[in-house]
Amino acid sequence: MGTRITIELFHPDTAIAQQGIDAVLKEMRHIDTSMSPFIESSELARLNAQAAQKPFRTSNELFGLIQRSLYFSGLTGGAFDITFASVGFLYDYRNAVKPDESRRLKAAALIDYHNLVLDETGNTVAFSKPGVRIDLGGIAKGYAVDRSIALLQELGIGHALVTAGGDSRTIGDRWGRPWTIGIRDPRDADKMVAVIPLQDVAISTSGDYQRYFEKDGIRYHHIIDPKSGDSARELQSVTIIGPDATSTDALSTSVFVLGLEAGLKLINSLPDTDAVLVDKHGKMHYSNDLEPAGKLRNNAKPASQPVAH
Ligand code: ADP
Ligand code: MG
Repeated sequence: MGTRITIELFHPDTAIAQQGIDAVLKEMRHIDTSMSPFIESSELARLNAQAAQKPFRTSNELFGLIQRSLYFSGLTGGAFDITFASVGFLYDYRNAVKPDESRRLKAAALIDYHNLVLDETGNTVAFSKPGVRIDLGGIAKGYAVDRSIALLQELGIGHALVTAGGDSRTIGDRWGRPWTIGIRDPRDADKMVAVIPLQDVAISTSGDYQRYFEKDGIRYHHIIDPKSGDSARELQSVTIIGPDATSTDALSTSVFVLGLEAGLKLINSLPDTDAVLVDKHGKMHYSNDLEPAGKLRNNAKPASQPVAH
């Protein structure tokens, strides 16, 4: 997944604790092997290579995650769209490569989740146009975290934190204290803008500082507005707190694209879901339930409110 995985857990039996760690790492590797766009033999890469010619038969797992992605496309009016990859592959953030405007606009015309044709009877996915591609980078890490948490729960582990890049989920508390996750300052890796206490919830952060380069004073980063095929620039970071990591992952990417007003409106309309946003000026914004006088929800049982430093 090209990202750091951390697992922290408590169990009185060290053999079970070790089994939990092994199970999580194995699951993460499995999901990476099947869903990475960079591994040529991955199921996702084969789907991308073939689905414009004829319907591609997928595993239940990949089919399910694509369906879940389409659910978020509908919920967000297309802000979350895995066909962003029709343009996304033209960017190489490490080497400061971007498409010129005409190439970008031509490819952006292919971004539309309606270009995916799913058939539940045969588990097949087809692209209705050549040139369409998909990438699950906005949801797969959250999914991997949820799968990991399920495996730990099956082992009877009642206190754990699993993190894959910007996506985390917790079981129980940290042995008598809440788990805490810091939200970093988008413009200073050594500073935190908030610390969130968590219990039995998921949290995801999307930022414009993870994969980016600057050219002529403009920041090009890995979260793409499907309307333009260009990076979304209304916010610097979006953190979503909610019941599961698949949702918080998809929603953090979505709200980043939707921007301040539409993003907060969406989060305020969803049950058990909260958000902390940093806008393009570095100013912080909270969803209704996190407003200074409010309370963290999601069973978060906060020891304190999120603290702005
Ligand atoms: P990360 O933890 O990798 O930084 P994010 O949750 O912030 O991930 O999502 C960014 C990733 O989502 C991008 O690297 C890309 O793979 C994917 N992505 C970018 N734009 C969109 C979009 N509009 N809809 C869905 N996925 C997207
Ligand atoms: Mg995301």
